[in-house]
Amino acid sequence: MKVSWRIILLWTVPALVIGFFLWQGAFSPAAGELGQNTASSRMTYGRFLEYLDAGRVTSVDLYEGGQTAIVEAIDPQLDERIQRWRVDLPINAPELIAKLREADISFDTHPIRQDGAIWGLIGNLIFPILLIAGLFFLFRRSNNITGGPGQAMNFGKSRARFQMEAKTGVLFDDVAGIEEAKEELQEVVTFLKQPERFTAVGARIPKGVLLVGPPGTGKTLLAKAIAGEAGVPFFSISGSEFVEMFVGVGASRVRDLFKKAKENAPCLIFIDEIDAVGRQRGAGIGGGNDEREQTLNQLLTEMDGFEGNTGIIIIAATNRPDVLDSALLRPGRFDRQVMVDAPDLKGRIGILEVHARNKKLSTEVSIEAIARRSPGFTGADLANLLNEAAILTARRRKEAITMAEINDAVDRVVAGMEGTPLVDSKSKRLIAYHEIGHAIVGTLIKDHDPVQKVTLIPRGQAQGLTWFTPSEEQGLITRAQLKARITGALGGRAAEEEIFGDSEVTTGAGGDLQQVTGMARQMVTRFGMSDLGPLSLESQEGEVFLGAGLMTRAEYSEKVAARIDEQVRQIVEHCHDDARQIIRENRVVIDRLVDLLIEKETIDGKEFRQIVAEYTFVPEKEQYVPQL
Ligand code: ADP
Ligand code: MG
Ligand code: ZN
Repeated sequence: MKVSWRIILLWTVPALVIGFFLWQGAFSPAAGELGQNTASSRMTYGRFLEYLDAGRVTSVDLYEGGQTAIVEAIDPQLDERIQRWRVDLPINAPELIAKLREADISFDTHPIRQDGAIWGLIGNLIFPILLIAGLFFLFRRSNNITGGPGQAMNFGKSRARFQMEAKTGVLFDDVAGIEEAKEELQEVVTFLKQPERFTAVGARIPKGVLLVGPPGTGKTLLAKAIAGEAGVPFFSISGSEFVEMFVGVGASRVRDLFKKAKENAPCLIFIDEIDAVGRQRGAGIGGGNDEREQTLNQLLTEMDGFEGNTGIIIIAATNRPDVLDSALLRPGRFDRQVMVDAPDLKGRIGILEVHARNKKLSTEVSIEAIARRSPGFTGADLANLLNEAAILTARRRKEAITMAEINDAVDRVVAGMEGTPLVDSKSKRLIAYHEIGHAIVGTLIKDHDPVQKVTLIPRGQAQGLTWFTPSEEQGLITRAQLKARITGALGGRAAEEEIFGDSEVTTGAGGDLQQVTGMARQMVTRFGMSDLGPLSLESQEGEVFLGAGLMTRAEYSEKVAARIDEQVRQIVEHCHDDARQIIRENRVVIDRLVDLLIEKETIDGKEFRQIVAEYTFVPEKEQYVPQL
């Protein structure tokens, strides 16, 4: 569409311009009137004077204020018949009139006809009007279609960017795994349904609730469920929609939104990603963004502007409550905060049950087993997981989803699409050693999560993968566990070095090293797990806004910075040595496992441990290993 409009535009302009000149010709003043009388031939002024002197001229009509004349004269070449000529007269020829009088020739003057002039004027104006109207129309059309820079033309005029759903059709039953949040919000439903119960006893109904939690945990769903349960309309807009190129657009959108909401009260307004507009004001280089500040101010004004009992409740969602402007969190605004976290095992079971309602699961599939297989998954991940499994089932032409599809879907959600395995080659061997390196180090260190499987089938970016079964509760992690993870992550590179030599190591360990460095650095700067002692030297990272790093002073001196680097290096070096030692000491079983992996492409954790146990002691791990 975009292209075709461009082409139309390109062609329209020249076409209109050509049209303009044609039109100009047709409408030039008095052309029509002269046209009726126009003699077919023209005569020069000199010839006319000659004819005049020779007494051939019989009559003269003057047009256009004496600039043109239609002359009737006897033509000597055409049997002395009377002919008509058109003569252009010089501007100053007053002596001509005297001459005509002298010669006693009848002459007449014709004034410029007024209506002709008006037509001419209209004719001249119509084109520019059409051109402007046409361009305007084209601009609007192309804006509507592309939606891109078109906003440039509509500034000041707020397009309604919010969505309105009269009935969301979502109920609390459709939301699972976030029971506390649901309980807290149950009250909001009552506010919307029976405000009199609160106002009767003089309670002020809260205006705003802030839902805080990572993406995909069901914040939007929860807000819809509140509206659905209360049976009120659901207005939603994303914070990023407020922030426009032009100052004032966001603010006018806020005004529009609240105006519409007031007309439809009781209702619920949902503002997604409120951090896009509600960031700390005056932050960032150059004093921040005027547009955002105006929008935020407008939002605050609107929130203060209506009473708690008008039946409007605003629910906002964010995953960065720390960056919000404190004015938003004051009483009377978003003074209630509800945490919406990633679900635990029980929560995952609940969410899976919700999404399994409309899916055909084979009887062998247990929801609990899927939930155990997916620690750390959010509600959106779980919904996606079941959907992927259903797609795979359909593709494999099965009647119902089996555990095989579930497992494949988990792998796919976690690590991306499966690729085609490499053909046997040196690099395949190297990848096999790298992965077995991760797996064996992970298996032989007591504090490491157990290996779930090792595979050479590429997925996403990775050429091979070693899967570990993560522990269920990802809450507190000990220093020993962190060091074990660092050592395990270095296992791949360590194996490359031990088997192929230092000069043969590859770029494949890049991702591992990034993780390793990140973990080691956090041990030193955030968790106080180094010789620097229990100091928090860095707050939780993450770009808050452009220029944050420039505006905030580092919390330590140059000298401490050098010591941090030294500590990080020590931790990594120590773990690297451990990993290399494990590889060296287990070379025999590693070679056997690599051959097996190249042959089978995948070794599962149980078999892996059994083989390793034939050669060396394998520590018991208490983490739950799903029996799938
Ligand atoms: P958020 O707004 O927190 O990013 P959404 O509410 O948009 O997450 O969730 C996306 C989808 O994931 C929902 O439409 C729903 O299908 C599923 N989902 C997420 N959380 C839950 C939950 N707690 N219970 C049921 N489904 C959920
Ligand atoms: Mg959302
Ligand atoms: Zn690796």
